[in-house]
Amino acid sequence: MEKIIILGTGCAGLTAAIYAARANLNPLVLEGSQPGGQLTTTSDVENFPGWPEGINGFELMDKLRQQAARFGARFEYARIDKVDFSSPTRKLIDESGREFEAQSVIVATGASPKVLSIPGEKEMWGGKGVSTCATCDGAFYRDVPVVVVGGGDSAAEEALFLTRFASEVILIHRRDELRASRIMAERVMKHPKIRKVWDSVCEEILPDEQGNTRAVVVKNVKTDEQSEIPCVGFFIAIGHTPNTAPFEGTLNLNDKGYFVPESGSQVRTHVPGVYVAGDCADEHYRQAITAAGMGCQAAIEAERWLAEFADE
Ligand code: NAP
Repeated sequence: MEKIIILGTGCAGLTAAIYAARANLNPLVLEGSQPGGQLTTTSDVENFPGWPEGINGFELMDKLRQQAARFGARFEYARIDKVDFSSPTRKLIDESGREFEAQSVIVATGASPKVLSIPGEKEMWGGKGVSTCATCDGAFYRDVPVVVVGGGDSAAEEALFLTRFASEVILIHRRDELRASRIMAERVMKHPKIRKVWDSVCEEILPDEQGNTRAVVVKNVKTDEQSEIPCVGFFIAIGHTPNTAPFEGTLNLNDKGYFVPESGSQVRTHVPGVYVAGDCADEHYRQAITAAGMGCQAAIEAERWLAEFADE
């Protein structure tokens, strides 16, 4: 049995791994289908303390991982889809039925991008024009028009990044103002390559004869008027859903699926020795640095709990 298992290798999971490894807990870190978490799909991270010139998201996560490994954290691929916390030996079961056992668990499973669920989205996913990651796919769309949907920091960041490649970036938002932070919103508003389409929702993505994206049908929510906007790339940046499904019925979740920690703590759950950290447990801040902070708190809590109770 492991002393501690950490689920997730985003900012929260890797920070927890650094602290747990430095506390000699020899953590096993289970990583799922997106090693490094959401920051690996970001371009430059400009607000992580200590990087005055900004740092590439992938590079930052790689450095955190190296730091955790340096102190003895072990990494394994596993997508946990069931848990059993009913006995002091906490059990985690992956999609192939493999069981992991631990005295203590830190859940830092992050969040995944939301989709619009409109016709054409599934059909043109990936190589056919529809994406949730401009950093991953943006370079495929050189000198062609692309759409970005959303009005938050993610949409602003995606739109600005795509201006490097696309002939035009059309930002479609369902309201007439951005909710992105002021600095990002100002950059978007000023950028000559970004056309803003306000008060509009996307209703359908249309294919060309080869099945690739050629346009999106939008409806103005104030006038009900429909129009077609030609685009070759279609980037969805409308927020995230927390990755908490395997814990439903075991740990407390709110109505949007985020973990709800015990009162008086950001990371403690009602199950002794089980902690939550990062975007899966934070509906409000959702920043790399706040996730790292929660990972640190969870590891310190786990260390104290293990020292006090685990061998009783
Ligand atoms: P967000 O702030 O929740 O924004 C989501 C946006 O998508 C909103 O503008 C929302 O519209 C729109 N939206 C949601 N559902 C929609 C739907 N079904 N159809 C059309 N539009 C829809 O999400 P986010 O931009 O991913 O940001 C999440 C958090 O991460 C925030 O705290 C943000 O500050 C942070 N973040 C920071 C950075 C950075 O600092 N560089 C980068 C990325 C993210 P409404 O405005 O009408 O609700």
